[in-house]
Amino acid sequence: MTKPTKNLRPASLLVHGGTMRSQYGETSEALFLSSGFVYDSAEQAAQTFLGEVDHFQYSRFGNPTVQMLESRLALLEGAEACRATATGMAAVSSAMLAHLKAGDRVVAARALFGSCHWIVSTLLPRYGIETEFVDGADLGQWRQALSRPAQLVLLESPSNPMLEIVDLQAVADLSHAAGAIVVVDNVFATPLLQHPLELGADVVVYSCTKHIDGQGRVLGGAVLGRKKWVEEVLQPFTRNTGPAISPFNAWLLLKGLETLSLRVDAACRSAEQVARFLEGRREVVRAWYPTLESHPQRDLAMRQMSAGGTLVTFDLGSREAAFGVLNRLGLIAISNNLGDSKSLVTHPATTTHMRLSAEERARLGITEGVVRLSVGLEDVADLIEDLGQALDGLALRAAAD
Ligand SMILES: *Cc1c(COP(=O)(O)O)cnc(C)c1O
Repeated sequence: MTKPTKNLRPASLLVHGGTMRSQYGETSEALFLSSGFVYDSAEQAAQTFLGEVDHFQYSRFGNPTVQMLESRLALLEGAEACRATATGMAAVSSAMLAHLKAGDRVVAARALFGSCHWIVSTLLPRYGIETEFVDGADLGQWRQALSRPAQLVLLESPSNPMLEIVDLQAVADLSHAAGAIVVVDNVFATPLLQHPLELGADVVVYSCTKHIDGQGRVLGGAVLGRKKWVEEVLQPFTRNTGPAISPFNAWLLLKGLETLSLRVDAACRSAEQVARFLEGRREVVRAWYPTLESHPQRDLAMRQMSAGGTLVTFDLGSREAAFGVLNRLGLIAISNNLGDSKSLVTHPATTTHMRLSAEERARLGITEGVVRLSVGLEDVADLIEDLGQALDGLALRAAAD
């Protein structure tokens, strides 16, 4: 049984959207940990395969728990359809490979998650797909690259880790004129803070591993878009190549969604406070957060997003200073993950972005002093205290030298 959830607001959709209650009337969404499904008769099996009756066949194609997750995400995003995947990278690679073929052309923002960058720079050219990177914040470069026909545009906004903002509406207009669909990796904004489909994007992808689980437990991903594209382009690819998510992970993500707005709102409030604190410290060369007055694209960020997100990036001037602060932090843990209830800190140049050439890192602004902080759900006063004592240690050390 599915109750109508069409006109509910986001916080309510996060709790109720897409729920299918079984005959037992359970309150919490049921976990259908089953790989296959049985038929009442040979005729029903035959009709299912003909598409004449709606019946689950096999969990690589569909599963009731996974379908609840897909419906909830689609309602939240305002998308016609969604397919959940095992990881965020399965979502990105499926969306791209399902749409593209040899001879096609892809234009992407340079500032991409490491594995997304590898797909564009290394994998797609192997299959005869031409790819070109542009500076995402530079509309002139988008205009130039999209003056030739293209089939797909991939971008991330805000970007990892420099929190660069791409003008989604303007890039969507240029992309459509060039014949390309726009795929937006909306992980940093979460489904709550930015709605790329309303700004002209065609497809939105998520790593559900991040804020949607938000508690560091499981990997997951999602692709959202128009029903026709999802059913005719994406689905034949995912059904036959198998990036399916485990029903157990889908169930955890459904439960994660229930608290998404509470968690994201709290972390955004803390992140902005932490960013202002860092910006005011003399050890910090520069801090980046989309809603800081000093962010070069603040107006654009505030036009496309309802809050700045849960990540803060700052520059300590050198690798030595960055490592010094990371090693002195007590509450905040060193990890390459993000979007967790626990605050996590990363040195991108030596971890998440170490595979890029030094030249490419420089072009992205990822210097040796850059630190990325994913703000979690701790009391913000404790986070500021922890950062403060780590920065104090740096100053004392410099004074002693
Ligand atoms: C983590 C992440 C991904 C990849 O997701 P996985 O779940 O780790 O496969 C893709 N894009 C962005 C922006 C991410 O942060």
